[in-house]
Amino acid sequence: MKKISIGEKVKQERGEEKQSNIMPDNQGQLSQIESGKIKNPKKHTLMEIVKGLNDIGNPITFEELIEGTTWEESKGDDIATEVALSPSLLDMRLTDDGVLTISHKSYPLYNQDGEMNKYCPETGEKLIYECESCGRKVENAEQKFCMGCGEEYFESIDIPKVVKEEIDFPLNYIQEGDSFGGIDHLSKFLMAYKEGTQKLMKEENRKKPTIRERQTLQVVEFVLNYFKKKFINEENQRDSKVSTDESIKTELFRQAAIRITEKMDTDEFSLDKLLNFTQDLGKTDDLTELVEQWDSSSLNDENKSRDGNPENVSDKKSVVEQNDAINNKKEKKGDKNV
Ligand SMILES: [Zn+2]
Repeated sequence: MKKISIGEKVKQERGEEKQSNIMPDNQGQLSQIESGKIKNPKKHTLMEIVKGLNDIGNPITFEELIEGTTWEESKGDDIATEVALSPSLLDMRLTDDGVLTISHKSYPLYNQDGEMNKYCPETGEKLIYECESCGRKVENAEQKFCMGCGEEYFESIDIPKVVKEEIDFPLNYIQEGDSFGGIDHLSKFLMAYKEGTQKLMKEENRKKPTIRERQTLQVVEFVLNYFKKKFINEENQRDSKVSTDESIKTELFRQAAIRITEKMDTDEFSLDKLLNFTQDLGKTDDLTELVEQWDSSSLNDENKSRDGNPENVSDKKSVVEQNDAINNKKEKKGDKNV
């Protein structure tokens, strides 16, 4: 079957109905699509047409409308490339080297049904989606100026001095625990600023904070939360380090207790050795070395030093062999008891 243009298809589906009943806000556009002046309208425009057709009692879907037509969704025209920006809500990023980037919070200009998103869902403000001077659409979320005429969309954002100081302070990024100072300064400032704003709103008989006030609050809260997270992270790391140290010690003493019990069953045991062993235990975390010292001192003359001088090292048995010997002795003892 030969494909027809989208304009022809729309005209067919419209039938006898007036163009203005399908697209009351943009009859001209519909006329241009039907006449073929606009050959490949954007998807959201077709969605609006579908909605209009549904409204006049034609239950057509978007898929049905484009079926059998030459219409193609071109990448550049994807509705996701058109955005609407919130005048006062901000998106912020703060990197670990202290670079703060701020852009206005963005929404897609159209929802899945092709309906326009006109107001900020969080503040109720009118979203910015086109240039006030030349009408060109906003194309990406980071955009601050119109790419058609250079007009600035928003007033520049004011970053409070206290925030700048905390971000610029290098110790906040390199030294553990130093983010606490930042938290302290910023939360005090935030509290005072909130109080001040409330007072001002009362005096000026306003119900909502100004755009500038909203933005200052957001910037301070964001940077404060950044340092809070960083601080909590640092504390958690410190805690886990402590618990690791403690678990190593606990395990060491447990192992040492096993070794001592083993030695107590043999003739290698003496109170002196036990004292030396426990004293050294506090200074080291190498249990094997301590056991070797104990063992080598038992193999040699009792008067020789325990400090592992070359003579001792050369003729001492390995710990494994020693353990085997201990086990054998235990077994023998056990046999006797039976
Ligand atoms: Zn412009």
